[in-house]
Amino acid sequence: MASRYQRHLSLPGFTPRHQERLDAAHVLVVGAGGLGAPVLTYLAGAGVGELTVMDDDQIDETNLQRQVLFTVADIGRPKAVVAAERVQALNPDITVHPLTTRFSPTTQSQMSDDLNLVVDCSDNLPTRYLLESWALNADVPYVWAAIGQYAGRCSVVLPHVGACFECVYGPAERVAEWPNGAQGGVFGPVCGVVGALAAAEAIKVLTGLGQPLVGRMAMVDAWSGDLTQIVIHPDPYCRTCQDRHLTDLA
Ligand SMILES: [Zn+2]
Repeated sequence: MASRYQRHLSLPGFTPRHQERLDAAHVLVVGAGGLGAPVLTYLAGAGVGELTVMDDDQIDETNLQRQVLFTVADIGRPKAVVAAERVQALNPDITVHPLTTRFSPTTQSQMSDDLNLVVDCSDNLPTRYLLESWALNADVPYVWAAIGQYAGRCSVVLPHVGACFECVYGPAERVAEWPNGAQGGVFGPVCGVVGALAAAEAIKVLTGLGQPLVGRMAMVDAWSGDLTQIVIHPDPYCRTCQDRHLTDLA
């Protein structure tokens, strides 16, 4: 195995079998902005064999405060394409597919059926609800990360275990749209903290190592410096979960 992964293989409990699971995995990352940057960087560095990067946005100067995959020379270019170029250069042994579209009812039908995991780094609630529902209906583990102003949150939903995003926040039509980065501002390093956390969760789910944040939600408050987590429970009235055939947490 390439010396590239030697520091993985030095870890307690991390064997060549775990590295092979990463190599065999196909992960969809939706959103190549502030959260997507650390997620894509760490997943590519870790040797996830196939990455699909979806984002329909172009890079502008206001992104550079936190979207650390991009430089001044990239302004005006598609985020998905540039992000794919950067992480492909980081790890030429993997395959990276850029998709310059938004996740929608149309694009979801075109998604590869060999996905092993979805990481939601999107910046709007309609995408988030649609993506979660699609992933769980397709029996694909779903890691979500979200940021707003000085704070961020992250959790993991397995196809048949754990409370989902809708369980926590309620049905889409009852949730007010969160202020986006342009309206509410974003404290840049929160993207790094929460994105790195989501990458760690993705690697844990793919390898089977550690204890994923299933049925728990991690919360980061950079203003106070608080790092906390709460237990979250499936909502019996959650529409996303009605067909999930939930089993109890072990
Ligand atoms: Zn639910």
